[in-house]
Amino acid sequence: MSNLETAPAETTGPGAAAGPVAQLLPGREVPLGRYATVRRMLPDKGRYTVGAWCFLDHFGPDAIAGAAGMAVPPHPHIGLQTVSWLVEGEIKHRDSLGHGQVVRPGAVNVMTAGRGIAHEEVSPDGHGPTLHGLQLWIALPDSARDAAPAFDHVDALPEYVADGVRARVVVGEFAGLRSPAPTYSPLTGADLEVTGTATVPLRRDFEYALVSTVGEATVAGLRVAPGALLYLGTGRDALTLEAAAVRLFLIGGAPFTEPLVMWWNLVARDHDEIVAARADWEAARQGATGTRFALVPDAFYPPLPAPPMPAIRLKPRTDRDR
Ligand code: MN
Repeated sequence: MSNLETAPAETTGPGAAAGPVAQLLPGREVPLGRYATVRRMLPDKGRYTVGAWCFLDHFGPDAIAGAAGMAVPPHPHIGLQTVSWLVEGEIKHRDSLGHGQVVRPGAVNVMTAGRGIAHEEVSPDGHGPTLHGLQLWIALPDSARDAAPAFDHVDALPEYVADGVRARVVVGEFAGLRSPAPTYSPLTGADLEVTGTATVPLRRDFEYALVSTVGEATVAGLRVAPGALLYLGTGRDALTLEAAAVRLFLIGGAPFTEPLVMWWNLVARDHDEIVAARADWEAARQGATGTRFALVPDAFYPPLPAPPMPAIRLKPRTDRDR
């Protein structure tokens, strides 16, 4: 499953390949709430982050006519941004700051948790028959992870059009264009519609990976289909994509060098931070005020209880530990 173009003898960040590689990571199916299964492609056994991207779920296409569809009750986040990007359908976001926002294809919801936020994500009343999209998380660097929470909806994204490709710059930068969504480390999140053969520009100092949401493509000598993450390493000026017709999502960024502890919906630096955030959420859920978390006004579902902490201490890790 691995086709190393150059052997990554050195690294440029924790676990980032020092040059171009092509490695298919198969992902795995995990239940999301009561009604849905998603394909989780980050974190993976073989890779913890790609730039600051630390989580990637691909859901659908699911037929949800007459069904609940997405039903993720209020839950907390710290230390990350969530990025909700749809191929088809719609999701309604509500958060503890009071935002209520439906996201549809072509627009993006970016929630910046900072020191703490809670949100709910559901298929709204009257939703369409199909739900298909991605949810990604971006780890916030130390400079931003204790900041106040925020929510942004962006429906006018920059577009890059060249032979065989139309790219929308969803988050960060791509091909010299920059999304207006807020980011806190150098990164790329771009949706690529490819017809035929296209070559897109990359940055040598970024590591990259991509997923297919629709169709198959040949990239760096490997066949990419929905359900796997293709890790591409660093050191590329450009990438050639060959497909009859395909929809890809490219993630990338400067290798993220800070250690991470990821547990449940919380991204921190050590075990004790996770314990403290979990306790704050449990207190808020049971009605306490004055913690970092508030409940989501007008939520459809009751807030999710935090799972019990594992018996062991959680260890911070980087890609290099895997
Ligand atoms: Mn969430």
